[in-house]
Amino acid sequence: MTEELFRDDATLLACAATVLALDEAGVVLDRTVFYPQGGGQAGDAGTLTSEAGAVLVIADTRKHPARPGDISHVPAAGGDLAAFAPGTRVTAHIDAARRQAHRRFHTATHLLCALVPHPVDGCSITATYARLDFHMSEPLDKEALNTGIARLVAEAHAVRDRWISEAELDANPQLVRSMSVQPPRGLGRIRVLEIEGVDLQPCGGTHVANTAEVGAVVVTKIEKKSAMTRRVVLGFAEPLRAPHPQASPHGTGQAGP
Ligand SMILES: [Zn+2]
Repeated sequence: MTEELFRDDATLLACAATVLALDEAGVVLDRTVFYPQGGGQAGDAGTLTSEAGAVLVIADTRKHPARPGDISHVPAAGGDLAAFAPGTRVTAHIDAARRQAHRRFHTATHLLCALVPHPVDGCSITATYARLDFHMSEPLDKEALNTGIARLVAEAHAVRDRWISEAELDANPQLVRSMSVQPPRGLGRIRVLEIEGVDLQPCGGTHVANTAEVGAVVVTKIEKKSAMTRRVVLGFAEPLRAPHPQASPHGTGQAGP
């Protein structure tokens, strides 16, 4: 069982931990700051450093495929696991830029949910783009969505998580916006993410603390995926940090995996 430090503090970048297990799925720690892929949000990357100084590059993070509650830190190809046997004490460091991108995009997708009053039937949040599939047939206006996002960012709404009981959730079925990702049941309580005055829904992801931190996020594309699906793709409006800052004036431009 891995203690999920990222649930209570999405700004934590490192922690001390002990290796619990090592298998083909990766390295399981007793506690971690690494968010495992889930709820549409990509997993964290980073490094594990042993007390002896060995460094293992972590390419991705997943929920363990067989043991509920365990989180697997997936080593990059070619990583040497010899120094990370169970019992090894390590420092776990996440890639801060990747996490910050996930936080900004994840909160931005919730702003989009507030602007588009239709159920969500798909979601993907990466470090370079995010996309939301809305179950709807009406067209969406890109400029209106960008104006709406910019307004909600400028209004600087507080973002916070809290826990509610399953009974409370059952009494408020409108809280569940997503058709494909139902909140995990059976624990008696469910984490909800509130953007004050804007949006409230079950979510286990990592978010910024205020909509102002979302910054320059814009709709880059709207696609009609099917008769009943409109896909909205988000990107960063500022240029990527690159050796040639003039090379890419319109952000990532990336539209899919
Ligand atoms: Zn969410």
